[in-house]
Amino acid sequence: MEYAEIGIIGGSGFYDMEGLEDAHAVRLRTPFGAPSEKLMLGKLGGRPVAFLSRHGHGHRLSPSEVNYRANLFAMKMLKVERLVSITAVGSLQEDLKPGELVIPDQYVDQTFKREKTFFEEGIVAHVAFADPVCPELAPLAQRLAGGAGLVAHRGGTYCNMEGPQFSSRAESQANRRMGHSLIGMTQAVEAKLARELEMCFLPLAFVTDYDCWHHSEEPVTVEMVVTNLKKGVTAVKKLLPELVRQMPSERGGCACASALADAIITAPALIPEKTYKKLELVIGKYIRSRI
Ligand SMILES: [Zn+2]
Repeated sequence: MEYAEIGIIGGSGFYDMEGLEDAHAVRLRTPFGAPSEKLMLGKLGGRPVAFLSRHGHGHRLSPSEVNYRANLFAMKMLKVERLVSITAVGSLQEDLKPGELVIPDQYVDQTFKREKTFFEEGIVAHVAFADPVCPELAPLAQRLAGGAGLVAHRGGTYCNMEGPQFSSRAESQANRRMGHSLIGMTQAVEAKLARELEMCFLPLAFVTDYDCWHHSEEPVTVEMVVTNLKKGVTAVKKLLPELVRQMPSERGGCACASALADAIITAPALIPEKTYKKLELVIGKYIRSRI
């Protein structure tokens, strides 16, 4: 049986995970459909990891088209407990500069065109999402980032727009006035789904531009993103082996692993068998099958 302890999702510019030992690809199908791409399994920093390209090889899927549920459920099928989500973002604050790494701790989800929960079709769960990011992994990542040549900021709010267009100046200014730190198109939904799967969630957001609010900088373009991204991806790839190596093997320092303990509100006897089967991997430890 294939197994990975730690999952890594690569975003724009990050389509392959070099340096995996014993690397091999697995194609998984989940009850929520097919992930964006084959998952690459292997060892990194001595630990079993699974890597998935969020937008697929060659960047074929838009942020709205990515099947986030399938991507995360595939990680769950591999028994992943900790998920590192890597993404390119625009900065909404002067002090978060292009070329720097941010580990946000909050999300504002403005998306409207994607599936954001595993709990539907006869089962309802409300997980706590006050603190979406694993409190054990975020400081570890910040501490190690310097060793990979990255300036890393911890904290801040990632505003998740639907896209795929970049912001208008009015949107960018409005998001700044709201006090948000970063603008991106993918990560809030992954954070929500990771919580529902009781995974520790660690976001690594690499700043590529100042969106379009900055008076002395050109508005963001794909060319600008790609140019800055190359440096960032190289540095993040340098950070990952050490980050993975130093992640505690037990999850004693956070509550991520029990996110569903008090979250499922549906009377167990009323959960349709089909729905139960679909989610047994996730809810089986709390609710036993009636069959
Ligand atoms: Zn955790």
